[in-house]
Amino acid sequence: MMADRGILVVVSGFSGAGKGTLMKRLMEKYDNYALSVSATTRAPRPGEEHGREYFFHTKQEFEELILQDALIEYAQYVDNYYGTPKAYVEKQLNAGKDVILEIEIQGALKVKEKLPDTLLLFVTPPTAEELKRRLVNRGTESMEVIESRLRRASQEAKAMPEYDYILINDQIEECVDAMHSVIQSQHDAVKNRSAFITKITEEIAVFEKGEEA
Ligand code: 5GP
Repeated sequence: MMADRGILVVVSGFSGAGKGTLMKRLMEKYDNYALSVSATTRAPRPGEEHGREYFFHTKQEFEELILQDALIEYAQYVDNYYGTPKAYVEKQLNAGKDVILEIEIQGALKVKEKLPDTLLLFVTPPTAEELKRRLVNRGTESMEVIESRLRRASQEAKAMPEYDYILINDQIEECVDAMHSVIQSQHDAVKNRSAFITKITEEIAVFEKGEEA
């Protein structure tokens, strides 16, 4: 029997909510996930590699990807472009993998509009104070960038009701397990179980014909 198609999952959340660590732990702890690598025009942070965290492109290269219709969605975030390459996501979903897109809200809503079965998860720290503390402690951005990300967070908070689930990232391991169980429960949603439903319905139909005991 062919593997069921994987679930497309979008994970968004305030910059500094701990999404990166969460994704890393999810991949380490559980099988069957594929993390989509986005294209971006922002500069690599120390330690980031082309093809691992992001595909780093010039603005011109990025605009070429848009023209080629090679992206499921793209958005501008704090002066840079970010977008999701289409081919990888399709391939992994068809192979039965659950594919995670870690993208911001404009992109998330575009994906949901295009592909309505997408599961939208929003990750947040328990408090606003904790959000600021995590951003400052990360030490990878200037105070100016941190402030623009905090301002943006207050806009982003308004989009939370558009999501399917809110995950509060207080204890990382608990949050990873909660995310895994929400995603896995989607596999049992009737719309994702059509192959099984067809099979067992056909098998049970045999009883209707009064099969000998
Ligand atoms: P960062 O620069 O901190 O890596 O990412 C900034 C924001 O861009 C994050 O909220 C991240 O989730 C989002 N992002 C990363 N990749 C994509 C993408 O492919 N599309 C969209 N729309 N947002 C993305």
